[in-house]
Amino acid sequence: MLDAVTSLPSTPVRRVVIAGGGTAGWMAAAALSKVLGKALQITLVESEEIGTVGVGEATIPSLATFHRLLEIDEREFLSATQGTIKLGISFENWRTEQHRYIHSFGTTGQDHWTAGFQHFWLKGRERGLAGSYDDYCIELQAALHDRFAHLQGYRMNYAYHLDASYYARYLRQLSERHGCRRIEGKIAQVHTDAATGFITGLQLERGELIEGDLFIDCTGFRALLIGQTLGVGFEDWSHWLLNDRAFATQTTAVRDAVPYTRAIAEPWGWQWRIPLQHRVGNGVVYSSKYVSDEEAKARFLATAEGEIIKAPFPISFRPGRRMECWNRNCVALGLAGSFIEPLESTTIHLIQRGITRLMQSFPAVITRVGIDQYNTQLADELQHVRDFVVLHYAATERRDSPYWEYVANMTLPATLQHRIDLFRQTGTVFHAPQELFAENSWIQVMMGQGIVPRHRHPAPDLMGDAELSAFLGSIAKRVRETAAQLPPHMDYLRRYSPAQ
Ligand code: FAD
Repeated sequence: MLDAVTSLPSTPVRRVVIAGGGTAGWMAAAALSKVLGKALQITLVESEEIGTVGVGEATIPSLATFHRLLEIDEREFLSATQGTIKLGISFENWRTEQHRYIHSFGTTGQDHWTAGFQHFWLKGRERGLAGSYDDYCIELQAALHDRFAHLQGYRMNYAYHLDASYYARYLRQLSERHGCRRIEGKIAQVHTDAATGFITGLQLERGELIEGDLFIDCTGFRALLIGQTLGVGFEDWSHWLLNDRAFATQTTAVRDAVPYTRAIAEPWGWQWRIPLQHRVGNGVVYSSKYVSDEEAKARFLATAEGEIIKAPFPISFRPGRRMECWNRNCVALGLAGSFIEPLESTTIHLIQRGITRLMQSFPAVITRVGIDQYNTQLADELQHVRDFVVLHYAATERRDSPYWEYVANMTLPATLQHRIDLFRQTGTVFHAPQELFAENSWIQVMMGQGIVPRHRHPAPDLMGDAELSAFLGSIAKRVRETAAQLPPHMDYLRRYSPAQ
């Protein structure tokens, strides 16, 4: 029956069907079954024959919030996923070849009531009173010296590296404990209602029909429901994000895991190294327009360390987003909804945001305004993340290949151009509440990529040299002393959460 106001079916949403059992599917199942499991009937369908994308092992600190919601014990989680701590990303060869900087979590320095810390640091540099910008951030110093611990009196801001297949298995256990029903099988057909276009059921190859009121498309790049069935269009961002292919593999560890991800730029893309307790996740991301598959793979194999555990497997993708991640009675999460390349490890976070928003606005019945609200918020978040990732390419000094030549000269999204101009001219950044990356991230990456502000806030001029020197010096000393208390990352982790 159609609702007289919305002209949408007025069926109460009771049966939720999740299509796909990768990270997106199991994160959705775990959260929905924990929070709304008593009110809803939740079913997840996954195909072992198709499998998952097999990558996605670096996260950002917001995952801890998701884990709090699920009441996940950190020690148990780290053991179950062979996880390690991530304090940031080491960007190597991005600004120029041989240059390195770290984008760390946490904050740098201490804001004064008048202006951001960077203005005081800039004045300190002018006066020869300041060290490197890196000297004022505990997380960055801990990463640089391969150290970590949970400290009394200071909570380090950190994320995790995790084994994606173990994580899905772990979330599956949690979901099933909270009543989620799992069905193994390949979806052969998606049934829709002829009048409304709403999805009514998923027909498996073996004939079984799984009916539902709300469908969550977690079928990865296939986008079986939102794309192939409902025909929701895709906004392509490949003119800003050139990479469209990857090879991924797993190798044995040749040294203790460091508490950061490595992103190593190449003349046509970049390589990642994600250190876990039991192995290393590696890969190369590249643009098929600028390098052949053979050359990218050869370069990757020539530089990979350790024994190969899993042969390199190819992945093709298209950067961009669905025009609507919620359409009719289908919500797309994960790769089915959008993909901004993995440079800043943002996809798992965006899955989490999609799930949280869905739970907060969970529909009694599906409404147009509810759908619009969800899509508008998600579009804003995606645009912000896209801009941040594009920044790493746009602000390079590299000109050594056609690839870097292109990205250094491309026309940027107006929103990003504005941020760069503002920082370059005034030393200021802004951060809206819903935006993922805060001032510290923007400043670290802009400075790391070589953007130097031409002007700064006048507030530091109110301080004399002695006062400014004492202000900067006391922060650097606190950072140094805190970092010095920390044990080596893996020594700590072996004691804190021994691998299973
Ligand atoms: P998938 O893992 O592909 O899962 C799809 C599921 O749908 C599978 O269970 C499959 O069996 C099922 N399915 C599909 N079709 C059918 C069918 N017909 N019938 C039944 N079941 C079906 N994200 C991060 O946050 N950090 C990272 O470091 C990171 N690195 C990445 C590196 C690369 C190269 C790429 C491509 C992505 C990376 N991502 C990263 C993104 C990350 O991989 C995904 O966010 C995450 O794995 C979620 O994937 P998914 O669950 O959407 O899709």
